[in-house]
Amino acid sequence: MIRDELARLIEEGYNGLGELEFAESSNGYLIYHWADRNPSAEARVYRSIEDARQIAKYDANGAYRPLKGAPNLPRGWVIELTTIDELKRALDYFYPGAIATWLAYQAGTAHPVCLRQTLSRQTGMYRVTRKISDKQAEDLVKEVCRSDSRCLRTILWGIDDHRPPDFLPRSKSDPNVDQTGQNRAALPFPCLEACNLLVAAARTTMKKSSS
Ligand code: SF4
Repeated sequence: MIRDELARLIEEGYNGLGELEFAESSNGYLIYHWADRNPSAEARVYRSIEDARQIAKYDANGAYRPLKGAPNLPRGWVIELTTIDELKRALDYFYPGAIATWLAYQAGTAHPVCLRQTLSRQTGMYRVTRKISDKQAEDLVKEVCRSDSRCLRTILWGIDDHRPPDFLPRSKSDPNVDQTGQNRAALPFPCLEACNLLVAAARTTMKKSSS
């Protein structure tokens, strides 16, 4: 069970995932933004996993967050939960499938899909992305996926099959690195395949280069 694995990982000392930190408390567990580690008296207190879903939806300005890995979660809140099952479900609202994907990757049952394979499946208006050059693709991924402002996922795929993502800064593809730069014992949020936002950005690149 994933929740049992989560309990084991917590026992091993993991206490972060993306921008979140979680801690055991006298009543169960707390989740909060890492920057609210010492929460102020004004921090809003929530007690439902459904609150996690709402908090994860919008950034501090109230704008919808289409990319769950984006480092723009709002601050100033804490969620109190009573069971490890609730903790697991709340973490999933913030970072969907992160723990399950990481465990499956480690177990060898989930595998990265290279960018060429993802692009080769594109049809219609996205078909043009198949023509992106290696250099264009590498530059694009470096910009669209950068951890300091765009996405906290750890990239495990390369441009081509059997090629590691060695064009990236080493930290971006190392699951042991906390992508927030906080050097915490953070669980990775793996990216096993390019997302729709990156494919759309590849299309924009191709349109620009042909105009
Ligand atoms: S491709 Fe992966 S790392 Fe890049 S923005 Fe999409 S989800 Fe994040």
